[in-house]
Amino acid sequence: MSNTEQTLSIIKPDAVERNLDNEIKEMFKNKGFSIVKEKKIQIEKPEAEKFYKVHETKPFYNDLCAYLSSSPIVVMVLEKENAVLANRELMGATNPTEAEEGTIRKKYGISIDKNCVHGSDSVENAKIEIDFFFKD
Ligand code: UDP
Ligand code: MG
Repeated sequence: MSNTEQTLSIIKPDAVERNLDNEIKEMFKNKGFSIVKEKKIQIEKPEAEKFYKVHETKPFYNDLCAYLSSSPIVVMVLEKENAVLANRELMGATNPTEAEEGTIRKKYGISIDKNCVHGSDSVENAKIEIDFFFKD
């Protein structure tokens, strides 16, 4: 039975600054994802704070929000069978030093904060995050 899903992906400032957005998009396409929506934007810190609200009690919250709003990002809606989990697998572990071979974070991640990509962690959050950036 097919289970086509959509998930939200963000190519974070460290990767956009290094001009890795096309390479990363190729990695998604090679895994069978369709990029159904895409935009390159820079967000303000209050928007980043809203996006990452789930992390507001964490010690890294302020730095994380400052970082996400520090320079342009590429925001995409990815579609594929079981896209949420498939994207998390392709991204790799949050800390690039723990990410498996073949993952985006293993290949391009610099550190736990500069780890190239964001991806929704559940179907429910994917809907919320897609709405956050693409409600129009
Ligand atoms: N993060 C960080 N320090 C930490 C944990 C997380 O800077 O100790 C950042 C990291 O960039 C991560 C983001 O916060 O991607 C969100 O954390 P989460 O645990 O949701 O990781 P993800 O879902 O991105 O793998
Ligand atoms: Mg997360």
